[in-house]
Amino acid sequence: MYAEIIIPLALPKNYTWMIPEPLQSELMTGMRVEVMLGANKRYAGIVKKITSEKPADFNPKPILSILDDQPILYPKQMALWEWMALYYMCTEGEVMQAAVPSHLKISSESVFIFNEAHTNDAKNLSDSEYLVTEALEIRKALNLVEIQKLLEKKSVYPVVNKLIQKGICLVQENMNDKYKIKEEIFILLHPDYRKEDALESLLNDWTRAPKQLELLLAFLHYEKTEGDVRQKEMLEKSGASSAQLKALIDKGVLIAEKRKKDRLKTDPSLGNQDFHTLSVNQLAAFQSIQTQLVKQPVHLLHGITGSGKTQIYVALINEVMKQNKQALYLLPEIALTAQMIRRLKQYFGGSIAIYHSKFNPNERVEIWNKVKTGEIKIVLGARSALFLPYKDLSLIIIDEEHDPSYKQQEPAPRYQARDTAIYYASQLGAKVVLGSATPSVETYFNAVSKKYGYTYLSERYNQGALPTIQLIDTKKQMAGNHILTPELLANIKKTIENKKQVILFQNRRGYAPYLICETCGWIPHCEHCDVTLTYHKAKNVLSCHYCGASYPIVTTCKACGKQHFKQKSFGTEQIEEKLNQSLPGVIVARMDLDNVKGKNEHDQLIQQFEQKQIDILVGTQMVVKGLDFENVDLVGIVDADSLLNFNHYRVNERAFQMMEQVSGRAGRKNDQGKVLIQVSQMQHPIVQWVQNHDYFGFYAFEIQNRKHFAYPPFSRLVSLLFKHKENNIAEEAIYHFFQSLGPAIQKTVLGPAQPLVNRVRNKYIWELAVKISKQPDALQMAKKQLLHYIRLLQVHPRYKSVQIIIDIDPN
Ligand code: ADP
Ligand code: ZN
Ligand code: ZN
Repeated sequence: MYAEIIIPLALPKNYTWMIPEPLQSELMTGMRVEVMLGANKRYAGIVKKITSEKPADFNPKPILSILDDQPILYPKQMALWEWMALYYMCTEGEVMQAAVPSHLKISSESVFIFNEAHTNDAKNLSDSEYLVTEALEIRKALNLVEIQKLLEKKSVYPVVNKLIQKGICLVQENMNDKYKIKEEIFILLHPDYRKEDALESLLNDWTRAPKQLELLLAFLHYEKTEGDVRQKEMLEKSGASSAQLKALIDKGVLIAEKRKKDRLKTDPSLGNQDFHTLSVNQLAAFQSIQTQLVKQPVHLLHGITGSGKTQIYVALINEVMKQNKQALYLLPEIALTAQMIRRLKQYFGGSIAIYHSKFNPNERVEIWNKVKTGEIKIVLGARSALFLPYKDLSLIIIDEEHDPSYKQQEPAPRYQARDTAIYYASQLGAKVVLGSATPSVETYFNAVSKKYGYTYLSERYNQGALPTIQLIDTKKQMAGNHILTPELLANIKKTIENKKQVILFQNRRGYAPYLICETCGWIPHCEHCDVTLTYHKAKNVLSCHYCGASYPIVTTCKACGKQHFKQKSFGTEQIEEKLNQSLPGVIVARMDLDNVKGKNEHDQLIQQFEQKQIDILVGTQMVVKGLDFENVDLVGIVDADSLLNFNHYRVNERAFQMMEQVSGRAGRKNDQGKVLIQVSQMQHPIVQWVQNHDYFGFYAFEIQNRKHFAYPPFSRLVSLLFKHKENNIAEEAIYHFFQSLGPAIQKTVLGPAQPLVNRVRNKYIWELAVKISKQPDALQMAKKQLLHYIRLLQVHPRYKSVQIIIDIDPN
């Protein structure tokens, strides 16, 4: 017997291994197996197919071991992977990379790290497990080769796999992606005393050590009111000593357990809150969605900012819960804030799990397993949550469906999670609800064409009015100082005097996007990319936002030798500085990639703002997404022109969405908010529609454009990037490719051309895009042809080293 196996690599096809006689009866598709590739690469692959047919052209190597006693995937998932590989023109191995958490993907590159917090007893370990555990304890980290030497066995994965399952070691996918494990000590009641009467007699029969009893009672109180009890907090609050605690632990009454810090906290005060009663409009929307979903499995909930879409999702999920089925709630990663999590946990408590790629890997496996058994009913997650092994998924909610981050850019699979979810739901017989205040043009088009059901919520909850929007003409301002116009500053001042808060949006981070020599106009560029360097004042460096390289500040012009530089344009850092200068005493915080590293800092900043410890929040896109602050009265868009001036067929759509979304952060509760937009193109139609909150006006205009130029949704785009370290080779290759396509396809090609940024990380880039008709099969045919010519290029002696990146439905 033979097995076709997916391994997490970009191999052109899946390879086949031989199933040794003793493993044949156990092996099933969807299980992980240990296999060798080449002489010394070892992987945990997933069995896709079992067959009796021996490959014609080679002698397959044997599978070394089986890692699972049950498949880790459902057949529907494997079918999804296959579809994705086909549709997005990538390999199933690449899909596996994106889909499976790292702990289920051991390979020769993996490093196994000792988990200091594990709680296994040596007597429960096999000899081999014990041997490796001991070595791990001393060395802290081992790779597969080292483990293999230790065990002197051919097959080592079963041992490693057990150690992972027992939490003795953690997997690091490669040397470069290190994660720190932060731990805290939690105090728990010993299971013996979990039984009511056991605890009662313990307390009744307590004679000596009254301080210990006091501490025990304090513990029981905290556990009841707060759920998880942290050792540190408990000692602080109760005023007890660690010796008293130790005595209770030694007596076997309490246990101390080290846990990872980012582990899900269960808060018993959550999960039992009553659902908000839906307003009349919300209830009507909810019912309209329910009714339409029966006939049309995909639905667009178009609701203005603050209309209570989240409330409706909650009601929809609640229906799913009643049927004891599963629901998936997808959000853009950046919108998956503690605030949002808290909101949902209030209703669903422990039935909900949070899943995204930056989560603790152990926990991701735990969620994987519990979703598979159906124990977890609701998953709130970023796009990768789509790949969990749902037992019975019946509803997928895709919030902020217009958000570009649903598309994975780098690396492959370059998939659009919203579209993939819609396909997957159709295979599962599940329903999809897309939600947005500013639907993507494609989605709204599908609603208008009756392909999707549609519900519109035109009012804010409680009849709250949408904010008024005023434009400030920056052309009329004195040259040089229009970063913050007097009008904007005066409004900020007034808002803060009224004890309200302000959000300022600027789509560029750093201090100044570039420096320019006053004498000759020379601009410092990155050595590796064709990009001007951004000046960061606090760190005092110039930095490349494409490859991350930093450079010391230039003081002398490389072209003319003069020493006078001017700063051009401005970023969030400079706005923050200007605010601090103009409004002394006001507390300003900045939310951008430089200042906010990781989820925790993001959440902290949101919390501080929520608790009014901050007056003004200045930020990039991060302040746009899904935040719900009740005290924000003023939103300022500092430089709207920067959103309007770039060359992309989606520029109007993105600019409208961004401005409308950031406006939506103002006046969400109670008072009507105000939005000030600083712009020089006062007459730009997009600005006008934003001013009137007129999505429909925007759409009517935009859809005409798209139709006229045959852009999506009237066509599909496939974009191809050609990359090479020599510009002329990349250029020749793309023209060679273009010529080979023949006149019929050539007519539909945009380019070849160099993108605006035409060199990144020392590679020159050329691009072209093919517009493909929406006729059935047209995409299939086109892909086939493109692939054919790509293959030819890949064997061409001069061009085979050109890297070609295919992107289907690019952003
Ligand atoms: P959207 O997602 O459409 O922007 P939200 O769901 O965030 O809107 O709702 C906006 C605000 O109004 C939130 O603070 C929410 O708690 C509140 N809200 C919405 N609907 C209700 C309701 N039916 N009862 C109580 N509060 C509500
Ligand atoms: Zn100069
Ligand atoms: Zn660079």
